[in-house]
Amino acid sequence: MTAPNWLYENFDPAGSAIGYRVTRKLDEVQSPFQKIEIYESTDWGNVMLIDGAMMVTTRDNFLYHEMVSHPALFTHADPKHVVIIGGGDCGTLREVLRHPGVQKAVQCDIDEQVTRMAEKYFPELCESNSDPRAEILFDDGIAYMANCAPGSVDIVIVDSTDPVGPAEGLFNKAFYDSCFRALKDDGILVQQSESPLVLLDLINEMRGEMRKAGFDSFQTLPFPQPCYPTGWWSCTLARKSGGFDFREADARAKPFTTKYYSADIHKGAQHLPPFVAEALGE
Ligand code: SAM
Repeated sequence: MTAPNWLYENFDPAGSAIGYRVTRKLDEVQSPFQKIEIYESTDWGNVMLIDGAMMVTTRDNFLYHEMVSHPALFTHADPKHVVIIGGGDCGTLREVLRHPGVQKAVQCDIDEQVTRMAEKYFPELCESNSDPRAEILFDDGIAYMANCAPGSVDIVIVDSTDPVGPAEGLFNKAFYDSCFRALKDDGILVQQSESPLVLLDLINEMRGEMRKAGFDSFQTLPFPQPCYPTGWWSCTLARKSGGFDFREADARAKPFTTKYYSADIHKGAQHLPPFVAEALGE
């Protein structure tokens, strides 16, 4: 369906769509990997799409960026070295660098054009790009993780597009093997894990592939995300061993502000709705 001035992403698995009223297209580039488009909307600020899928809006990206980063960083006892695979809009990097204990945050996105577009149309997401602790690379995240020194990383955050195209290889055992090897024994892998309303099979498959790679405990945290299909999204944490109690006192006393994440939101997200818990065997 189309209508004047409305931009839609149709989502076949749910028979639904996400739409924005837009005023104009600001930019479009076909990179070697994907088509990136930027629109100006009437109510949501700028909107970035990759291959027709909504990635980021100015108004609601904080939900995703805060939830894909802070729960993992407050669950790890002392995260110093963080790797972000994907995340080219730089919003996750900005959240990770809010933690004063982080000494190094590597962002490895396959597509430089995503970051160039973010710098131009989402400059607020890129405000930590010149932090001396940040290292921004443009390379395939699969190769980056395969070449990481064993036992060198505290947290791997997979902030990728959906499991098609260049991101397909970020959802299988071979990639998780590399993450497992690169992580220290108390390390955490966290990955955006799509909609818990309609893609529970995918979350189960991801967990299955992670388990085959050696991860043995999992936690899926749901959160609202209006710009993604169904409006409800999730991230899944995996550990080699150990649980998901988080540093609640540190989260309450965090030396930075957040718009969605809080210690109470973190606690609440740990309690899955019954239908999700049942589907995930919890
Ligand atoms: N938050 C978004 C979502 O859930 O839809 C993802 C946003 S972020 C812009 C996704 C990034 O993953 C893109 O910039 C894309 O270039 C990157 N990406 C896809 N496949 C990749 C790969 N194999 N290695 C590194 N980055 C990859």
